[in-house]
Amino acid sequence: MTDAVMVTALADGLLAVVIAVPVLVVGGGIAIAARRRGGPADGDGTSGGVAVAERPSTAAPAPPSAAAPTVETPVEAPAPPVPEPEPEPASYRGRLGKARGLLSGYIGSVRARARIDAATWDDLEEALIRADVGVGATDALLDDLRGRVKSGEIGGPDALVDALKGDLVAMLSTGHAALAEVGADRPAPVEGEPARTVDVWLFVGVNGVGKTTTVGKVATRLSGGGTPVLLAAGDTFRAAAGEQLSLWAERSGADVVRGAEGGDPSSVVFDAVQRAASKGTELVLADTAGRLHNKVNLIEELKKIRRVSDRPPGRVTEVLLVLDATTGQNGLAQAKVFLDAVDVSGVVLTKLDGTAKGGIVVAIQRELGLPVKLVGLGEGAGDLIDFDAEAFVDALF
Ligand code: GDP
Repeated sequence: MTDAVMVTALADGLLAVVIAVPVLVVGGGIAIAARRRGGPADGDGTSGGVAVAERPSTAAPAPPSAAAPTVETPVEAPAPPVPEPEPEPASYRGRLGKARGLLSGYIGSVRARARIDAATWDDLEEALIRADVGVGATDALLDDLRGRVKSGEIGGPDALVDALKGDLVAMLSTGHAALAEVGADRPAPVEGEPARTVDVWLFVGVNGVGKTTTVGKVATRLSGGGTPVLLAAGDTFRAAAGEQLSLWAERSGADVVRGAEGGDPSSVVFDAVQRAASKGTELVLADTAGRLHNKVNLIEELKKIRRVSDRPPGRVTEVLLVLDATTGQNGLAQAKVFLDAVDVSGVVLTKLDGTAKGGIVVAIQRELGLPVKLVGLGEGAGDLIDFDAEAFVDALF
């Protein structure tokens, strides 16, 4: 099947899906099956020889050592400020102003013409390329539309814009997958006993893309929805990352396990899983380092983290690749390094609020074959929403 035919078929299929399935993704919570527990099934506050400071605690945290990561609630260390949540919940419409600003000029000029002509196709092509949809996807979209104009199915400029919207939604809905349900497919825990498995979500990606912030946002959201989480500060390379994560933990009411600066991130995640199991916490959110300057080390380190996280009682149920939308197509090249290292289950696309390159969502799904699961629309705790193809495309236009 050619790309053009596939796009048409998908657009047709999508209509049925849209009618049949009322989607409640924007502003909705992450789907969770986790049951709220009465309280931690904790014993003496120690875990595998690891010093534990219960939350909330006024005791000074035990000094971290390279060999033994610590569970702590550091509040004194200087750390980058964690922004307050925006008063208004983030929405595609409210936050995609830059991307919409780029497209609206072109779309307005297409609609203003009396008929579809050569300039119309030039406008559409330029709009899609400048929005970073990517050459391959742009060609596929335009080929499909040209064919439908030729066959008479699309009669004029307005119908052409509507058809483009439909094609984009269809492309973005292909292979869409929701986040893993916390605790899915495992036997119900016995009251008073430690959880038998602990789900682990790994967050991977280059430095600065927004991993730590995303872990904090997800923790806030899940904790607020009644699913306690434990944070693992696996970015031991950057001291500020651990401090930043501790602030997010404090805000969201989660515990955090940190290691010494430069320590082994795998042992941090391992201890976090042990700690979560002993407390009956069902989910560990693990931050990781993203130093690209030594690819071999990075890949080996990520492989090890993944291996260790999958050791019972741990099991990895999400590996989320965090990409910065403002880097556009360059982000795709970086992404491939991570795909070589770990089996990525989905993408978190951050900073969509600060870029006109909204089309990168299309390129990611098409070129990496990965679903975009979450989207960052700002720096605040509430500025993370589930990906919704229709709402996204609607806001772009
Ligand atoms: P990390 O190195 O990958 O852990 O990146 P950080 O989480 O430290 O984030 C780097 C910067 O990006 C911080 O200033 C964050 O506040 C900012 N950031 C993260 N996500 C978003 C987002 O969705 N929108 C905007 N505008 N900024 C973001």
